[in-house]
Amino acid sequence: MPRPSLDDARTKIVATVGPACESVHQLEELIEAGVDVFRINTAHGNREQHEIIVRRIREAATIAGFPVGILLDLAGPKIRLGQLHHDPLICEEGMKLTFVTETTDQPREVTSTYERLIGELQPGDRVMLADGTVSLRVEQVQADRAECVVTVGGSVRSRQGINLPGVQLSVPALLERDVDNAIWAARNEIDFISLSFVRSPDDVRQLKGLLHSHGSNALVIAKIEKPEALEHLEDIVENADGIMVARGDLGVEIDVAKTPVAQKRIIRVCREKMKPVIVATQMLESMHTSTRPTRAEASDVANAILDGADACMLSGETAIGDHPALAVTMMSRIMKCTEQEMMRGPNRNHQISYRVHPITSAVTQAATHVAETIEAKLIVIATRSGNTAWVNSQSRSLIPTVGASESQATLRRMNLLWGIKPLASEHLEDTSRFIDQMCRWGHEHTDLRQNDHIVFVTGTGVVDKAHNLMVVHTVE
Ligand code: PEP
Repeated sequence: MPRPSLDDARTKIVATVGPACESVHQLEELIEAGVDVFRINTAHGNREQHEIIVRRIREAATIAGFPVGILLDLAGPKIRLGQLHHDPLICEEGMKLTFVTETTDQPREVTSTYERLIGELQPGDRVMLADGTVSLRVEQVQADRAECVVTVGGSVRSRQGINLPGVQLSVPALLERDVDNAIWAARNEIDFISLSFVRSPDDVRQLKGLLHSHGSNALVIAKIEKPEALEHLEDIVENADGIMVARGDLGVEIDVAKTPVAQKRIIRVCREKMKPVIVATQMLESMHTSTRPTRAEASDVANAILDGADACMLSGETAIGDHPALAVTMMSRIMKCTEQEMMRGPNRNHQISYRVHPITSAVTQAATHVAETIEAKLIVIATRSGNTAWVNSQSRSLIPTVGASESQATLRRMNLLWGIKPLASEHLEDTSRFIDQMCRWGHEHTDLRQNDHIVFVTGTGVVDKAHNLMVVHTVE
């Protein structure tokens, strides 16, 4: 069925692109399976590869006829191990491991990509390696070396990540390569830009300032994966355009036992502040190799939706897994089953939003109420910037909802809004042509029947920048 389709899940799917899905054909297959936004992770690959991927995503979107969004994930100040003398290095509990400034031929001396690391460590600090699988405690620090002892053993490889829970680092929010990638993203009209290891609202403001100075309106997604970000959560959410619960690093930076409640808190704050929120990492992890998820993974996707997430993300499952399309289809199926149930819970948000004209906010909410009362088949929101669709998305109505816009950028950005199906229209100014066009689309792509109702939210132009018109159209 061509997308957008009324059969799509309301919750959005973000899929990470990698070797397992990077041909035009594979990308198209993933769009058809339900992907709304593709993520390109700048921690992997180079500029030339990223350019090729963007071109292919756009080609696949054109073939599929669906304005899929692109999210560029900036690596931020992620610290990694340097080249190890022996790869892998087996770290046994009690073993000494020393951070030094230059690579040596001593197998138990290691370097990092952060040159100020040794100076910022203190005895007693915890250092986690390889996604938190190996733990060290700092014992002694000298000018050019920090001696650590292994407290939880395991195996580490060159370039694997280093996490320093609770250590205050002076590393800037945007490294040179992030600035370079952000400018490239601005020039290439990327829709969403996420920043890793955000610690304060200033980090978000800095990236927004950079993007604006290069003429980009890309939406900035702050990845919450540091304890400092949880401390400043409200302000970060306020400043960002959206949030990602980046559970991979979050589960290393804070006690993994605390990540489920952290996820719930992050989603709650996003719902209060009406910002889209993506839940990421290990959602269908076992589908790297298996054709079915575990029961716990199916519950994880469902619970994220019941918590109020706008989108769920697939990482390795689509980037390097054996079954990328199956993982997307499975995620979409779990979403659809969950969405039918969620309306029984307290998931709806009827706040007035100050991001749009108060009349728009009130009319949009009233339209949802009317549509539900008369059991309308469709809600159609005319939206230039996407803001009106964004307000509608907060009400979490199960009535299929189209966000119609003249702007391709708006159509792509609506891909993170729960329940909104982006559809191109050139007739926003002319209400009767707009209604005709949308009804034609409804007849061709849905099972609209005689006497079915469609609720339109649009404007007369009488009140500047406000949607002051709600039309209930009954199919003849
Ligand atoms: C995460 O840490 O969960 C995450 C999404 O970030 P990355 O994939 O860059 O590690």
